[in-house]
Amino acid sequence: MHSMKSAYSSDINKCVRCGSCKALCPTYAEDPVEMRGARGRLTLLQGLFDGRTSPSKLLNQHINSCILCGACNRSCPLGIDLMEALYHGRSVLKKSNRMGAVLRALTKLSIAWPDMAYKAARMAQKSVLPALARMGVMPAIPELPESPLRAADQVFKTQRKKRGRVAIFTGCSVNYIYPHFGESLIHVLHRLDYEVILPKGETCCGSPLRSLGLEDEAVEQAKRNHGVFSRLKVEAILSLCPTCTMTLKHEYPKMIGKGLDRAMDISTFFIDKLDHTDMIQKKAFFHNPCHLQFGLGVSKEPKEIIKRAGVELVGPEQSACCGFGGLFCMSNKQLSADLLESRGETIASSGADTVITSCPGCIMQLSRTVTDRPVIHLIELIEDAFYFRGEEQKLLF
Ligand code: SF4
Ligand code: SF4
Repeated sequence: MHSMKSAYSSDINKCVRCGSCKALCPTYAEDPVEMRGARGRLTLLQGLFDGRTSPSKLLNQHINSCILCGACNRSCPLGIDLMEALYHGRSVLKKSNRMGAVLRALTKLSIAWPDMAYKAARMAQKSVLPALARMGVMPAIPELPESPLRAADQVFKTQRKKRGRVAIFTGCSVNYIYPHFGESLIHVLHRLDYEVILPKGETCCGSPLRSLGLEDEAVEQAKRNHGVFSRLKVEAILSLCPTCTMTLKHEYPKMIGKGLDRAMDISTFFIDKLDHTDMIQKKAFFHNPCHLQFGLGVSKEPKEIIKRAGVELVGPEQSACCGFGGLFCMSNKQLSADLLESRGETIASSGADTVITSCPGCIMQLSRTVTDRPVIHLIELIEDAFYFRGEEQKLLF
């Protein structure tokens, strides 16, 4: 019998089986079987950590079918950290998860040599990548830009008197797939008279590695990023990806004993800096990314900023998962597609002219099904609505 004593055992053993953590669990909503929900997974992990349950194919399936959205953590009245237990469970189970071996190897390679992976992907984007997407091996990714956002140490100085200094944690998806989001952020910060720094040495936040149970490798990334960003004299560390922000701020303390406290979502940073413009008289659907609402606890600020731009929000108040989940959309294709389908139906029936979200991954996922209206990042709305007055607009709407 496998035996594993874990630091998480005492936390998860406080569970009273109330089931609150299942209420917003997207995988349980899609497949209402106890073991496909938060409480069921927690019960399985208790068995694994206590040595009552051995690793098996089925156990791997249940634990790896979790999208790591964080809804369960927000819902548990006892504050049990289910996410940490899930990460740890995956780390314990990885040796018995042969199916994940290829994904683990590819992820490790791409994170160790990201520029090489990007160049290879650029060469393959007209041939191999579309074929792999058609076969369902990986999601379709948009055309890759000619160059990533980040180069060497980059400081973007202001023309006028400096109001402050801000660092950007670009994250892999913005750096390699959506650099124009980063350019929009730099532009908006400049218009607010902030000096902007993109420091040399940033690496993957570590989240994809953790999701695959590669804890040691994730810790390595956390130490490197902490070393680079904690030295900077900045008032905030902004990322356009809520997963990166959540990892830097809330997961690094659990991984390496110290976090990057100044990491925050752009909506938290901009909320007290943007006036009403009422520039854009449209209806929009706000898709709140899981790691923004559950990981960072942010919901009000992005909605308030959207309203200040003149946009009317339509659709249900409570957001739901789009099914992306980083590598989840590759390891759990059907479940990911089912979640996307129901999200697409909600969006289609909302009557929105456009979809606004705050996560590059959600944009990639939602764009697969929402093809009749724009799907944009909040920073694009901010740039268009608040900082193109009297200038040429991007006409996103
Ligand atoms: S992280 Fe999300 S998908 Fe996973 S168990 Fe918790 S609520 Fe369910
Ligand atoms: S909400 Fe917390 S206490 Fe209730 S079943 Fe889930 S983990 Fe256990």
